[in-house]
Amino acid sequence: MVAACLSDVVEQVSTWYPPGYAAGWDRVGCVLGDPRQAVHRVLLAVDPVPQVAAEALRCRADLVLAHHPLFLHGVHALTDDIPGAAVARTLIKAGIALLTVHTNADVAPDGVNDALAAALGLTEISVLLPEPERGEGVGMGRVGLLPSPLAPAALGRWVADRLPATAAGVRVAIPPTAERSPVGRVAVLAGAGDSLLDAIAPGVADAVITSDCRHHRVLDAVLVRGLCVVDVAHAAAEAPWLPMLAERLRGEAGRRDWALDVVVSGERSDPWSLHVPAIRWEQQ
Ligand SMILES: [Zn+2]
Repeated sequence: MVAACLSDVVEQVSTWYPPGYAAGWDRVGCVLGDPRQAVHRVLLAVDPVPQVAAEALRCRADLVLAHHPLFLHGVHALTDDIPGAAVARTLIKAGIALLTVHTNADVAPDGVNDALAAALGLTEISVLLPEPERGEGVGMGRVGLLPSPLAPAALGRWVADRLPATAAGVRVAIPPTAERSPVGRVAVLAGAGDSLLDAIAPGVADAVITSDCRHHRVLDAVLVRGLCVVDVAHAAAEAPWLPMLAERLRGEAGRRDWALDVVVSGERSDPWSLHVPAIRWEQQ
């Protein structure tokens, strides 16, 4: 067996999730590290938050591969008032590299959206909003069929049972005319996807599962477009990609005779801590 170096791992991940697929505003790629440094253990996480940096130290990882960027905008200091700075300092001090694979992994085949669709048991999965100029199977979101149609309320339970548990749970917005209409075709938009609800052509999906949903976007989707919207915790929707990527990396390490351990983070980065059930409006 041979030790992989950071540039080997970055190159391999870039063949699966080309940086050129990333959105123009995004910042993906290697953030910290020496391309020549050996990588014996990689820790996969949704967010490069302090608890993940601490976990990387605990498990003696040489590389953290995170979905979300540490910095999206230019920074001119690494003081504690700068988000991400403490994590950068912790990782640099320990010699741990950091690689970000973000919107390039959202649109690529076998990426974040495919993993979410698979976790929800969808079949006959295809790209929701194809980007054919970039290649076959590339684009935002996925759409597929539930094993059997479910009423909207049952869909909420179905989703909650298949994603990591979070304090806020799952919210379901049901069109008034569709309370009992079965949902068969389901679209997924991992991460904050409400800005794309308008782009879904009529009839493509009965329901959309996404995160960080805003009031007016959901009202329009429900009242104008008749779509059922299922809002799930952002990190929970993206977490299913981590074990899929781990298996992919382990397979590649085997083929290339790399002595490489792949660890999926056990830390939850969903920021919500508490959900208080609603009371009836007239009781307020
Ligand atoms: Zn995200």
